[in-house]
Amino acid sequence: MKCIRCGGEAVYRRVYSGEVYCARHFVSSIEDKVRSTIRRYRMLDIDDRIAVGVSGGKDSLTLLRILAKIEKSFPKAKLYAITIDEGIEGYRSGSIELASREASRLGVEHIVVSFEELYGSTLDSMVEEAGRRGLKLTPCSICGVLRRKALNYTASRIGVDKLATAHNLDDEAQTFIVNILHGDLFRLVRTKPVTDYRKGFVQRIKPLREIPEKEIALYAYLEGIEFQSEPCPYRGVSLRSDVRMFLNIMEDKHPGIKFTVVRMWDSIRSVIEENLPEVELRRCRLCGDPSISDICSGCSILVSLGLRSYQPLT
Ligand code: SF4
Ligand SMILES: [Zn+2]
Ligand SMILES: [Zn+2]
Repeated sequence: MKCIRCGGEAVYRRVYSGEVYCARHFVSSIEDKVRSTIRRYRMLDIDDRIAVGVSGGKDSLTLLRILAKIEKSFPKAKLYAITIDEGIEGYRSGSIELASREASRLGVEHIVVSFEELYGSTLDSMVEEAGRRGLKLTPCSICGVLRRKALNYTASRIGVDKLATAHNLDDEAQTFIVNILHGDLFRLVRTKPVTDYRKGFVQRIKPLREIPEKEIALYAYLEGIEFQSEPCPYRGVSLRSDVRMFLNIMEDKHPGIKFTVVRMWDSIRSVIEENLPEVELRRCRLCGDPSISDICSGCSILVSLGLRSYQPLT
């Protein structure tokens, strides 16, 4: 196999497009794709202050590395890395260390914020408490909502314009199917490559949304990025894991199907949105974040775990 750009020895063939690349041109093809995704969805302005959510896994460290390269051409832009320490024993501390090392190598300020300091409890203790109380909350449903809230809080506190997250093509395709299976029309429409501007929420962007997960893994390997490869101990107990497995089987049989799912989502989103009544956001009575109900989903989890108190209005 020969690279289509230089004729050198190839290391990768994109089954869905037929492109074949050597290591150097594979790396540049990924960076070009990220640049074109940023351009296509107008994700960034030249003087943006950008926070990157960095967990220490391959996706977020790859995103940080690529944005740091892109930032060099935009001297007025500034990058920060934010890591949320959920408090998962034996798992999170290693990845924080890797995130810190990479941020300092790139000269990017790194901010670490924990669930314990924000919410008064670690994720491990929350999961135990949810079990004691017989709540139907999975570890990932607690973690996902509270991490999003923590990232938004930290990004607002440092005053950035954009919050970049490392969702890749696989994540995006899974999210679409999961939202359908949950019957969650609101989230199906609101989850976008660039979220709408809403007071109280930092705009989120997903520059890796067109890169398949396995290509990110290869990029990280070829670029020598040290990342945490050990899976989270809670992974595997969610609907998303089943959807991930299903999509991987489909992709093997029908290369390109994850792209089709994401493109389909992009094209129906605006049609549904036009026909949906505008949902008026209020302020959460406990934390002040924008919310569609009296209290936001994060505070509602904290209340159910006994970490906040709340008196409903009668
Ligand atoms: S697998 Fe679930 S619990 Fe673990 S970090 Fe991801 S969302 Fe959180
Ligand atoms: Zn080449
Ligand atoms: Zn709230």
